[in-house]
Amino acid sequence: MKTRNLDQTGSVSNKLQNGTNLQSWHAITAEEALKAQNTTADGLDQAEASRRLETQGYNRLPSNAGRSGWKRLLDQLNNVLIYVLLLSAVIAVVMNHWVDAAVILAVVIVNAWIGFIQEGKAEKALEAIQNLLDPRSSVFRGGQRRTVSAECLVPGDIVALEAGDRAPADIRLFSSKGVSAEEAALTGESVPVNKSVDPVSKDAPLGDRVCMVFSGTLITQGHGMGVVVATGSNTELGKISALIQSTPSLKTPLLRKMDSFGRQITAVISVVSILAFLGAHFGRNMPFTDAFMAVVGLFVAAIPEGLPAVMTITLAIGVRRMAARNAIIRRLPAVETLGSVSIICSDKTGTLTRNEMTVTRLVTSNKEVEVTGVGYVPRGDLLVDQKRMEAQDDSNVTDLARIALLCNDATLEKKTDTSADWTPHGDPMEGALVTMAMKAGLDPDLERKTWQRTDEIPFDSRHKFMATLCHDHEGRNLLMVKGAPERILSMCSANSDGSELKIEYWNEKVDMMASAGWRALAFARKLIAPSQRSVEFADAESGLELVGLVGLMDPPREEAIEAVRQCREAGIGIKMITGDHAATATGIAKAVGLGETIRTVEGSELDQMNEDELEKAANESQVFARTSPEHKIRLVEALQKRGNVIAMTGDGVNDAPALKRADIGIAMGRKGSEAAKEAAEMALADDNFASIVAAVQEGRIVYDNLKKVIAWTLPTNGGEACTILAALIFGLSLPVTAAQILWVNMITAVTLGLTIAFDPAAKDIMKRAPRPAKDPLLTSRIVWQVAFVSVMIVTGVFGIFIWSRDNGSSLETARTLVVNTLVILQVIYLLIVRAAPVRGGWLHSMKNSKAVWIGIGSVAIAQLVFTYAPWMNRIFETEPLSAFSWGKIALVGIGVGLVVEIEKRIHHSWTQRRKRTGLTG
Ligand code: ATP
Repeated sequence: MKTRNLDQTGSVSNKLQNGTNLQSWHAITAEEALKAQNTTADGLDQAEASRRLETQGYNRLPSNAGRSGWKRLLDQLNNVLIYVLLLSAVIAVVMNHWVDAAVILAVVIVNAWIGFIQEGKAEKALEAIQNLLDPRSSVFRGGQRRTVSAECLVPGDIVALEAGDRAPADIRLFSSKGVSAEEAALTGESVPVNKSVDPVSKDAPLGDRVCMVFSGTLITQGHGMGVVVATGSNTELGKISALIQSTPSLKTPLLRKMDSFGRQITAVISVVSILAFLGAHFGRNMPFTDAFMAVVGLFVAAIPEGLPAVMTITLAIGVRRMAARNAIIRRLPAVETLGSVSIICSDKTGTLTRNEMTVTRLVTSNKEVEVTGVGYVPRGDLLVDQKRMEAQDDSNVTDLARIALLCNDATLEKKTDTSADWTPHGDPMEGALVTMAMKAGLDPDLERKTWQRTDEIPFDSRHKFMATLCHDHEGRNLLMVKGAPERILSMCSANSDGSELKIEYWNEKVDMMASAGWRALAFARKLIAPSQRSVEFADAESGLELVGLVGLMDPPREEAIEAVRQCREAGIGIKMITGDHAATATGIAKAVGLGETIRTVEGSELDQMNEDELEKAANESQVFARTSPEHKIRLVEALQKRGNVIAMTGDGVNDAPALKRADIGIAMGRKGSEAAKEAAEMALADDNFASIVAAVQEGRIVYDNLKKVIAWTLPTNGGEACTILAALIFGLSLPVTAAQILWVNMITAVTLGLTIAFDPAAKDIMKRAPRPAKDPLLTSRIVWQVAFVSVMIVTGVFGIFIWSRDNGSSLETARTLVVNTLVILQVIYLLIVRAAPVRGGWLHSMKNSKAVWIGIGSVAIAQLVFTYAPWMNRIFETEPLSAFSWGKIALVGIGVGLVVEIEKRIHHSWTQRRKRTGLTG
């Protein structure tokens, strides 16, 4: 009966929620709790749920505002470089160098502002991604099981909980089958607490309220049902949430390494600057103020102050791009590791296949039946020898369909009365079984009412079967079992007519289905004493009658086939690790193109292997069938022994340890448990293998871009710094003033350096072998590049300075030439760094480079203003340039650019040759 007196009971509920009785849900019986929440075990109807959502609000915790804008801005000012700059500005003012002081301050402000904006963007990108993995809950609404966003839960909802779920709200249990919850977040106690349904004393502490499951705690075992009694900030977690919420950190190991590199380099540059100052002032008798300002210029030019910000934004852009391709990063360091993945260990169902199962075949002890129709629409025929049959005429077929329907937790929902769109709620495979039962003429609601379930053993990939105990009105008590055929066969002693089990016949049919790539399931039953209301393993494990087999088709995903091809081209190995039958798994492996010849190993064989054999098998086979989650850990470890970087998928609570062990744990966003998602570094919004490969590709792009950022920033800073240093050392007149070098630094850092973060994939990104995991970012190649390009820049700059001075140009004109040459060299070097040294690399890098062209355009405008605006000429002591001077600049730019490009190509062909000889040698 669902008639309710809302006002009356609503007030009870409110009193319990908001008033003095807040603590007492654990002290009342489950029936009282249901009554107080004005609900029944069938759940609220949808209209009532919507009404409560409106009045009670969404089931979410108030979000933490994070660092305030001001705090973030001030954080930008909190570093050594800024302190030195501010000190220099003060000294410049004292020495009456107003222009220099102003330029220094401008540099400080621009730097802090860029850092502030970029960091804000990066934080936002991460926060937005957190919301993409919207947890879902299984609730009963109007007697039907539904999957809804956990945010939409309201007090009074009936929720089903399973191992691996994170409790979505505070829930009073009314059924518990071995439920344990890990409540460390609330109580600090990491040992899971066994739950039951009995009330406890009113003043029991949180950890002893065993009939309650609290929001945010993890269900580690069992399954149960309960009524939601508090949502959002009314939950126990809500009361302490302010303490535990935090903004995600943007620091990854790589960024931390760069930070410490930055500190070291600052120290070195400080020493060099002091020495340079002493040398210039005392050794070369340079006036104090001039020497001081030159050294400030040197200091600012040398320090790659923009580097951390650009690296952070590069990572954040990577995270955003991955999210757009359905790969949701949960831990930032994964972005770096993804680029070096050398083996992907993937589930089969739903990842490589579509997880849109359709029953295509039924086999009973005397018949093989073809089932027509696709998808979940319960429309289709049963055919025997191409002729339609009525299921009702064959009790074996009807019994098989009934077990498939009742040993099953899924329901089907028809979207609208007229639409042909049917959606499964629960396991899609079980949904397909409901569809089949309906095709066989059974009415799910009627059958479930006739056969009331009193107990069950839920499916677990370790025992590979599920059992339900159901009784009808005539007093029959039937144990219904379904599961992996070999497992069920071992539990059976007879066929459904009581005759001796036809093992060979059944095995032959299983092989037939598996070799067609179908998933085979076996169905069995056993009559149990009418008085028995619960079921144990011992009841199910022997004496069953085998009723029949079902073959389910689950086609491979088209995108997976293409993604597998890409992986093979990119030198990434793929291992399919599945709980399914070896032949079924091998069939799918062939269909997605895992290899010309597929080597398959079964879990039971892995159990027999010693470490060496396991390592060999893990590396040489592509398919691992009939495995349990424990095998996954052993396989990851065996593969890692050979230095591989492993990405591994998982969905169940038992997969969590393997996900943690893998270098990149990947959880299924849709069908994965919360436990798996939390253990994983990344989650797939669409559970699709192709998204893993997309993430690997994005990971490679991020790493490439980080390398480019470094390869561009360090030499350009080096070039600027060496220009001043060389002048000081050799006692030459400075080719650029301190203010000018500060200008160049500020303009190019904003317009050029940042654009690399947006760079798209290089042409050969998925054609290269995976990068060795231990490859440092600062390779000897980059160190060489820094030195070589710095020297080239200094040569170009001094070249043009001396050339124009020799031709009688004024110091101002010569310096204007130098500033523009410096900027143009940086632009040219940026283009060189971006182009992969492969055929068509330049052309490819020129396309899809909107950010770069905008950057170059802005730098051009800034330089024109710098060169021609009279007020700029006054501030920076520059002179407008003639067309001829621009010709000189172009000549030097192209000359230096050519040398650098040629060096890049020589290095590339040299490494290629080394690789080739390394392979053949
Ligand atoms: P995959 O890699 O394809 O995702 P899996 O992890 O789904 O494999 P398991 O879930 O471990 O594999 O299932 C192993 C076997 O147990 C299946 O091949 C099937 O025979 C059986 N099985 C799967 N789900 C159920 C279920 N809900 N009830 C009963 N048996 C099941």
